[in-house]
Amino acid sequence: MKVRLSEIFTSVEGEGILYGTKTLFVRLAGCPFTCFYCDTPESLPLDSGTEYSVEEAAGLIDDSLQDHTYKVNFTGGDPLMQHEAVALLAGHVHTHARGVLTYLESSCFDAERFAHVLPHIDVAKIEFKTSDSEFVDAAHHDRMTGQALRCLELAAAAGKTTYVKVVASSETSVGEVRDLAVAVSDAARKSDSDGNAATDAISVSGFVIQPVYGKGEPPLELLLAMYDAIRPVYADVRVVPQLHKLIGAP
Ligand code: SF4
Repeated sequence: MKVRLSEIFTSVEGEGILYGTKTLFVRLAGCPFTCFYCDTPESLPLDSGTEYSVEEAAGLIDDSLQDHTYKVNFTGGDPLMQHEAVALLAGHVHTHARGVLTYLESSCFDAERFAHVLPHIDVAKIEFKTSDSEFVDAAHHDRMTGQALRCLELAAAAGKTTYVKVVASSETSVGEVRDLAVAVSDAARKSDSDGNAATDAISVSGFVIQPVYGKGEPPLELLLAMYDAIRPVYADVRVVPQLHKLIGAP
């Protein structure tokens, strides 16, 4: 099997609930979506990056892993575009780098692909795209949100460390974010660790609002309004800007 990688590098995790941890980023090529704030446009074409066999890519990960690395992030592009290779590479990390966590960051556009990768993933960041993101056109937006909610249910039911990220711009609707928080809360309550329905425990580790950086930045008042909208539904909400951009890291 072949896999196309854009880059592989060690840096500081700059997003989400594990920000600040030493991380090996494995950036896969390919993403068909069109978010206006995308910060990896060079990774979007499916034929970008360099093609490797999965064995060669696994060797590259082995050679790149530094001591004290906390986790390996499979990122993109969208890593679910090459889900079979990601499953193999994440499984390789589990086998050959014991104690190092595997982490998937995806827009979660396809629950079947997500389910294929999930057994090999320790931490799942489920990213929900708001309608101002320009991720997809309006006609497809609800279907994509449904796929991400299904991925959230699967990850939570499997007992993975699971958290939600929403990128907020100056055009993001507070009402849309509130509705999303309700849907996330409902989905997180649907399943227990055996996949059975209806438990009272919320199995999602955090709801992160990530402000857009560089263009369309949301004012503080809007971020606080989103926080206030989510907090009554989901208590562990935080506004977390991208740390790596503040310190000039990749
Ligand atoms: S889903 Fe991610 S990689 Fe794809 S366009 Fe949006 S921000 Fe960029």
